[in-house]
Amino acid sequence: MSTTPVSPTLEDLNNITALRHHLHHFPELSGSEHNTSHTIRQFVKRYQPTEVVADLGETGIAVMFAGAGAPGPTLLFRAELDALPIKETNVLPYTSSSPGIGHKCGHDGHMAILMGLASLLHSQPLAAGKAILLFQPAEETGAGARKVLQEERFKDLKPDYVFALHNLPGVPLHQVLVREHTFAAASVGLKVSLWGKESHAAEPDKGLNPGEGMSELIQTLNALVKDQRSFQSLTLLTVVHARLGEVAFGTNPGFATVMATLRAFEQQDLNKLKQLALHTVEAIAEKYGLKHSHEFVEEFPATVNAPEAVEVIIAAAKDLNLDIQQVEQPMRWSEDFGHITNTYTGALFCLGSGLNHPELHHANYDFPDELIPTGSSLLYRIAQRLTKS
Ligand SMILES: [Zn+2]
Ligand SMILES: [Zn+2]
Repeated sequence: MSTTPVSPTLEDLNNITALRHHLHHFPELSGSEHNTSHTIRQFVKRYQPTEVVADLGETGIAVMFAGAGAPGPTLLFRAELDALPIKETNVLPYTSSSPGIGHKCGHDGHMAILMGLASLLHSQPLAAGKAILLFQPAEETGAGARKVLQEERFKDLKPDYVFALHNLPGVPLHQVLVREHTFAAASVGLKVSLWGKESHAAEPDKGLNPGEGMSELIQTLNALVKDQRSFQSLTLLTVVHARLGEVAFGTNPGFATVMATLRAFEQQDLNKLKQLALHTVEAIAEKYGLKHSHEFVEEFPATVNAPEAVEVIIAAAKDLNLDIQQVEQPMRWSEDFGHITNTYTGALFCLGSGLNHPELHHANYDFPDELIPTGSSLLYRIAQRLTKS
């Protein structure tokens, strides 16, 4: 195996960086990434992929690069197409042109990294097997990976290994963060509705105001995770939204809603917390004589890394002399790549975006372009190692 690290040519890198800025300038929300998807399809043509499968989970695209011919594994590398409903505060030549929408998770950069990988797979095809670059929709809502996985045309691709990376501020630039088993937490949104009976504010005795039940629900939900001894590993619950009736001083409200995000490093803990939360809702609704309903939304399973996939990432990072950090705790955030590692062998890892870089999902965040060649070369190296080219 050649030990010289390879990265896209300077000309390619300039084009790919310009592509990143273009994607940043025209961000699109989860499930609406039509122009982004079109741009990716047009741009990748220059690398003459073997095959392109489009419209996966609506806007997703799988781009295939066959190796030089020897039989070998099928490797899949994923990037995300979507941006966030966050107004950009940066002043850049390529500042978001879509009001209230911004690439605040760096998915523009992840797409650019995959494009750099496409350039390498084109100029120096793998000796064996093949590589698939998956540009996946709707990561931020947890809907995209699941939709793609349900597609028969995707199932036909049968990847042997799947990989994805995420940039991570607060970590030295270019540092590689890995962890075996759980890498990112499982999480789910819980929406609770409580109904009493509306009446005139002057006659509260004729109605049933769910306010008391609602406030007890918030406190009891928060208390569920106070004693962490009930769980195997870190388990969190954050009340994210609550509302009682409408703003109407003449009305005694008859409706309330409480929403919370439940999160855990271990899937069993999340399942347990879901049960505890539902029991709490039922008990409080009964105590106050309220009708109730609930819905779980935006479900992300834990992203569980296969040890053999992590081993390859570490070996490839060493080949490129990159700094490696084996993290002790999983990431507290969730990633819908967990759906993909639930189905296929693989791993998610992080690349440091710089110690003082603005945080993900913050209004002043922008993906650091310096990571593009690092990411592309590292993914290519992983592919080389698994196909022994
Ligand atoms: Zn995000
Ligand atoms: Zn992200």
